[in-house]
Order: sequence, then C-alpha cells, then structure tokens
Amino acid sequence: MLGALRLSAELAAWRRAGKRVPLWWRDDDAIDASPALDRLLALSARHQVPLALAVIPDQLSPELVPLINAQPAVSVLQHGLDHRSRCVEGHAPAQFGDDQTAAEIAAAIAASMQRLATFERVLPVYVPPWNAVQPRLVEALRSLDLRLSAFDSLDESDRVDAHLDVLRWGARPRFRGAGRLLNRLARLLAERRRQHMWDRPVGLLTHHLDQDEPSWRFLNVLFTRLGPASGCLWLTADQVFGITKT
Ligand SMILES: [Zn+2]
Repeated sequence: MLGALRLSAELAAWRRAGKRVPLWWRDDDAIDASPALDRLLALSARHQVPLALAVIPDQLSPELVPLINAQPAVSVLQHGLDHRSRCVEGHAPAQFGDDQTAAEIAAAIAASMQRLATFERVLPVYVPPWNAVQPRLVEALRSLDLRLSAFDSLDESDRVDAHLDVLRWGARPRFRGAGRLLNRLARLLAERRRQHMWDRPVGLLTHHLDQDEPSWRFLNVLFTRLGPASGCLWLTADQVFGITKT
C-alpha cells in the first residue's frame, strides 16, 4: 500500500532527524454513555493514547460525567452550545447566526460552559461544530480567553486544529480509507519536517457515534503502527494547548 510505505519513510526521516513525531487525538460530539463511547475509551486505554473529547454542553447527559472522570487520560473540550445550526437555510451550517454580535456569542458560550463544570478535566478550549470558524466567534473566544480547535490549519498560537478525519461526510458518514489517510498523514508530517516545525502536532479526528466498522478497525491498526517504537509521541490536550509544560 503506497500510503503505508510513504508513512514508514516519513517516520524514518523524523527518526534520522532525532525528532519525535507530535500527535494528538480529538473525538467530537460526545453527549451520553453509549456502546460507541465504551469502545472509544477502551481504544484509548488499550493503546495508552490520551484523548480530547469534545462534549456538546446543551445535550449533555449526566451519565457521561462519571465515566469520563474515571479516565485520567481523557480531557474535555467544549463543542458548541447545542450543535444546532443557526445559519440561513442553504448556507454551510454554523452554531451562531450571522446577526449575532461577538458579545452575544461570548455570553452564550460562557453560559453553556457552566454545564461542563462537573467534569474534572475541562480545558479552556472551544471546538466549533462543523469546524465552522466564524469571524465573530474568534473575537468572542479572545474575550473569554478560550483557545480554538477546528480543522486543518497549520496552527496559530491560540489555535490547534485536527487534520486527519477518519470519516468521509456524505449522506451517511463512511470510512475515508486507509491508503488516503496514511498518505495524508505522511504529507502533513513531511510539510512540518521541511519547514522545521517539529512542535506542530498533527491532530487525528474521530466521531465515535458515526464510525463504521472499517473506521474502528483502522484506528486499532493506526495506534499500533504509531506506538512508542515508531518514534511518535501522543500528546495530551494540556500539552498541545500549552496549558501545562511537557
Ligand atoms: Zn460536531
């Protein structure tokens, strides 16, 4: 498989440079206990990969809280308010309406954040639903001193994105395919290596409630392949966002 070969070659290049490959893992849309959530937590524990779980505050079931608090390697990020689009019909979905001011957005985010207070490891990080980074949202987050995590930027100081989405989003979400994903990971790492951006992590993105069997199987293989012997280092969300120093 071309993607696998490319990735092996890229990991070898990082090892030759004497660098660890920085990675992190975000899973979106958590609201409740479920068999899929159990599977997610088991995967994190089995491979000892820390997990940043983006929780939808306004849909949160209290049953999720003790399950997550019992997992020291799982931290919680805020995923929107209620994850319902307020955009004009026909436009790309987004949590906030076009007519909402930054002050209104900030007040709504702060109110919903209260619902996450019973989690023991909540980080000051906001993940916009559909990764929709609206200009007034950025302003609102700055006023609240919250960091941002969306999709596919090479990261600014107050933003750390995910880059590798295991699902393809059509009428029904489906596994994107191992070859494509490994190839993309190799390309993302090569880009960082060539620019000497050794500390810019690549973020894996999953959605436990939407994943099909091939996606779950791929994750198991991926975490095995990117284990300690590979030279990869799976960072905690605290480390990624510089909340505690490594
Ligand atoms: Zn979402």
